[in-house]
Amino acid sequence: MLLEVIVKEQMALLVKLQEQDQTLGRLRRQIREGPQRIQETEGQVETLQGNLEAGKNRIQEIQKLQRQVEAEVEDGAGHVGKSKIRLLTIKSNKEYQAVLKEIEDSQRANAEKEDKILGCMEEIEGLNEELQYQEKELFAVRETFEKEKKTIEAEVRQGEEQASEVEQRRRDTAKAMDPGLLARYEQLRARTGGRAVAYVENTTCSGCHLNIPPQMYNELQRRDSLKFCPNCDRIIYWKDGATAPEGDMSE
Ligand SMILES: [Zn+2]
Repeated sequence: MLLEVIVKEQMALLVKLQEQDQTLGRLRRQIREGPQRIQETEGQVETLQGNLEAGKNRIQEIQKLQRQVEAEVEDGAGHVGKSKIRLLTIKSNKEYQAVLKEIEDSQRANAEKEDKILGCMEEIEGLNEELQYQEKELFAVRETFEKEKKTIEAEVRQGEEQASEVEQRRRDTAKAMDPGLLARYEQLRARTGGRAVAYVENTTCSGCHLNIPPQMYNELQRRDSLKFCPNCDRIIYWKDGATAPEGDMSE
């Protein structure tokens, strides 16, 4: 009877320890992932900012081109004016025709350049509209990011507080345990990737999902000795509601 009490008590501590370890694992993940999540969202803001900058640079380039072409048009117009004055003093018909052609060529070139200027203006207008849209988007995304960042930071802080509480409780649990059993638990935990204790329900081990032998299942129900799953080596216990952990233990 005494043995049964001890086994039951140790088993309950083991289950508790595992729950605390699982909670700690979840909290540490939450703490670790916080800064990563912030960085990801920050990356989105930076991408939008980059696009906006690129758009602004493109506008400046087009404006520069436009100014250049405008200067050329002005030069061309000046040239045409001078040529027209020259026409008045030319005596030779051949030369007159040549200058006339020159004027026509310059005028045609200028007309093409004026089209180019119009094209620049249209492109700038389109880009400006796009930039306005992008600026609004950036503003909204940045606002969301600032909110999210605060939420995540609060979650991380909360996680850290909870983790130190659970760590304290875990130390208490471990202290109450048989040192040999605790060592075995730690070994199994390292080997199984976190789950050293498994319940058995309807003769099936919840750790490896394989059946345990009927003889062992009967012994398990007596709860007077610690049992290990013959398939996965996990410490197993009979799930009858009394020692069952709260919630689902599956990962
Ligand atoms: Zn098993």
